[in-house]
Order: sequence, then C-alpha cells, then structure tokens
Amino acid sequence: MKWVRYYQPNHQVGRMFRRAMVVTLIGNLLLAGIKIAAARLSGSSAIYSDAVNSISDVLYSILLIVGLWISQQPPDMSHPQGHSRFEPFTALIVTISMTIAGVEALRASIQRAMEGGAAIPLGISLLALVVSMLIKAVMYAIVHRISRQTASPGLDAVAKDNLSDVVTSLAALLGIVGSNFISPLLDPLAGVAVALWIFKAVYGTAKENLGYLTGAGADEDVRNRILDSVKDVPGLEDVHHIVTEYAGPKLVVEMHINVDGNKTLNEAHAICDQATERLEALPEVDRAYVHVEPLGYL
Ligand SMILES: [Zn+2]
Ligand SMILES: [Zn+2]
Repeated sequence: MKWVRYYQPNHQVGRMFRRAMVVTLIGNLLLAGIKIAAARLSGSSAIYSDAVNSISDVLYSILLIVGLWISQQPPDMSHPQGHSRFEPFTALIVTISMTIAGVEALRASIQRAMEGGAAIPLGISLLALVVSMLIKAVMYAIVHRISRQTASPGLDAVAKDNLSDVVTSLAALLGIVGSNFISPLLDPLAGVAVALWIFKAVYGTAKENLGYLTGAGADEDVRNRILDSVKDVPGLEDVHHIVTEYAGPKLVVEMHINVDGNKTLNEAHAICDQATERLEALPEVDRAYVHVEPLGYL
C-alpha cells in the first residue's frame, strides 16, 4: 500500500524559482537603500512613501523564499498531496506586510500635507526615481517570464508588484516636479497616491490567493480548455459532469465520462487513463479524477 502521491521532483522549476528569488531579493534591497537615502536627502514625502513600499518588498521577498522552498518539498505522510498550498498561504502573509506599508505611507503623506508640503530639490530625487524605475522594469521582465514558465501565482504576484512599483515611482516623480512648478502640496499628494496604489495591489493579491486556499473554481477559459483536452480521446463518448477546485495554486478536476457499456474493464480503464493523462498535461491542473460510466448514466 502506498499512502503518498506519486512524485517526480522538477529540478528545472526549482532552479527557475531560485533565479527569480535572487533577482527579487537583491533588486529590492538595492532599491530600498537608494530610496531611503533619497528620501532623507530630499525630504520628499512621495519618495518616503515609495521607500516604505520598498522595505515591505524586501520583507515579502524573504517570506516568499521561505514559502516557495516549503512548497517545493516532496509529498510525505504529513502532506500526502504535496505542499503547494504553502505558496498562496505565503502570498497572503505578504499582503499583511504590504498593508502595513500602505498605512505608513498614507500616514506620513497626510501629516506632511497638513504641514503645507514643500518644494523638493529636483536633482537627487529625479535621479533616484529614474534609476529605481529602470531597475524595477528589468525585474518585472525577468520575473514575469519565469512566472509564465512555472505557472506560479507567488511569482505572478511579485511580477505584478514590480510593475506597480514602476507606477508608484512615476507618481512620486510627477509629484516632486509638480511641487517645484505648481504647488508644494503635490509632493505629499503623490505620497497619498502611492499609498492608494499599494492598497489596490493588496486587494488584488489577497483576492486571488484567498481563492487558491478556499477552493475557488476554474475560470471560463480554463474550463473550456479542460473540456477540449479530452474531446478526441478514442472511445470516450460523452462528458456530463465536471467539477474544478483550486487546491493550492493548481486545480483538482473531477470528470464523469460515458463509454460504451459493453467494453471490457481493460478497455474502459485505458480510456479513463488516457483522459486523466490529457487533463493532467494542462499547466493549470495538478491532478484529475475520471469516473467512468456506461452510456446513458448520469
Ligand atoms: Zn488506473
Ligand atoms: Zn456521472
């Protein structure tokens, strides 16, 4: 008797995860350093908000390294289907650190706005923000590609965060330019905009990962591809019931199929195995259970 699922370690995925996490951790440490220095030198609320955002990015990079490492551990008696749920669980913890960053950015910006704001020196601020945007754009390109190749929601959240950080730095930059030429209040207002953008990212990440943990179903596009994948299995006459559920970042699929009732068990079992194989070949599917019934059964 075997009590733990069949498992083949995927070293390639492990390698890609490591590359993505090294890029993310080093990049975020570098950015936090640049922005903290620039915020102190310039006295800008907008850059301060952006710096707080980067510090929270460093925290989540570390959490995600731990989470991805645990999720890659082979299935064992404690978790016979594997540890993949640790990945969305970690992503959810990350949203807590993002929320704290958003609250701190909002608090500091509102306080500065009530003090009237200030015209922020341009040289050091603009240099720091443009360099930050370039670094984040490169990080986005690298992590986005790896998240596609590995179908990892954790890395997808990181990629989206990288892209949104380009936008927050751009908002800070516009606020600082505006504080010189339009009104000193534009700097703290840009800080508020950065904070709101952080909250928007929190909402999106929390919603998606809560779905992975609570058994959300597949969207319509994936449902259609599930049905299409078994359509031309020889001997499979009909499909009449499909239930999908996220168990971690990937789906469990239950499918009822109809075959000719006069086939032998060997023949019916072969059809069933082929359908299972096709389903499990889909990148979104972790495992599939196919129930075989004679024609006419529901
Ligand atoms: Zn079998
Ligand atoms: Zn049925």
